[in-house]
Amino acid sequence: MLERLQPRAPDKIIGLMQAFRNDPRPDKIDLGVGVYRDAAGLTPVMRAVKAAERQLCDTQTTKSYTALTGDPAFLQAMAGLVLGAAAAPERLAMAAAPGGTGALHIALALVRLASPGARVFVPDPSWPNHAAIADALGLTRVPYRYYDAAAQTVDEAGMLADLAQAGPGDVVLVHGCCHNPTGADLTPPAWQRLGALLAGRGAPLLVDLAYQGFGDGPEADVAGLRAMAETLPEMLIAVSCSKTFGLYRERVGAVLALTGSPAARATAEANLAALNRTTYAFPPDHGARLAGMVLADPDLRADWAAELEAMRTRIARLRSTLAEALTAQSGSDRFGFLAGQKGLFSLLGATPDQVATLRETHGIYMIGDSRINLAGLSEQDVPRVVEAFLKVGL
Ligand code: PMP
Repeated sequence: MLERLQPRAPDKIIGLMQAFRNDPRPDKIDLGVGVYRDAAGLTPVMRAVKAAERQLCDTQTTKSYTALTGDPAFLQAMAGLVLGAAAAPERLAMAAAPGGTGALHIALALVRLASPGARVFVPDPSWPNHAAIADALGLTRVPYRYYDAAAQTVDEAGMLADLAQAGPGDVVLVHGCCHNPTGADLTPPAWQRLGALLAGRGAPLLVDLAYQGFGDGPEADVAGLRAMAETLPEMLIAVSCSKTFGLYRERVGAVLALTGSPAARATAEANLAALNRTTYAFPPDHGARLAGMVLADPDLRADWAAELEAMRTRIARLRSTLAEALTAQSGSDRFGFLAGQKGLFSLLGATPDQVATLRETHGIYMIGDSRINLAGLSEQDVPRVVEAFLKVGL
């Protein structure tokens, strides 16, 4: 039977990571893989997470099963971090999940249970796994215009025109902040206009929140989704703790489902529990507990917030350093957009041939669509990177 399986192309990002590892050039630069890196090129365990881990190791007395929806303290902490006071607890159904990917999968599976014919509106471009998860669940996918590549900004008019096609039983996926791959985010007024378009349409938002704290800070980065929670009757949020807490491999995430009433809340939570049950039974607990402990302890929380802020400002500084160097060397401001975009990623606007030449000739790795991870840069790499970008004709 297994011989009937269809071959699959290897995942492009994983393939690129492998090619980078195999590249013997000592001065190679990895702007590909989407993880935070510090000035030494490392993806650190955050200090507060390490301290919580020591505490947990000393005090945990059992590793017996938790609830099907995960550790309630973790979920409460996530609701506070993401939604603050913007959502009434009696309308909020929650479940922990393995990472943002697990949360997206469970959230879309919940949509499918509620609305088997649901169409998922996905921004163009988006993180490729959005389409892959929707396809794996057999949901119909509708791309909507999001990015104006020529202007390097959100194509708001295109987005609103395309989303006007969403109707009852559909779901609209948006990135909460730090859009992957473009770094182009909705402004507060654009969020308001999106909310006004969707209110009363019966098509809830599914907000993918994977980079809280990497754009303008942990509060500012969720202002848009909080405004939506106050405007819209229903909303789903898939939260990832991979970047915000540096917990990548621990697989920490949560689904927050804002429902229309307390009765709908209870039913949604029972359905989330049932989806977890049939997918992996209990969600991973170790990392979720650490995130919950960090947020509940004032000292750990303050240290986590300070380290997150240092990560955020490092990314912002690299953005402006690169943009300024490119402007100075090219004599044009065509790279100015890099400074204003948010989070780890931007699209350079290079052709596939230019991306290949940067990799083969200059040892600079990026995703095929020319997405760069700014945190992959170090300040001393900037002159070489700028020279290479201009040499390939960017
Ligand atoms: N959403 C987006 C936009 C992402 O970029 C990522 C990570 N690359 C995720 C969700 C999920 O991350 P994880 O499953 O590792 O938490």
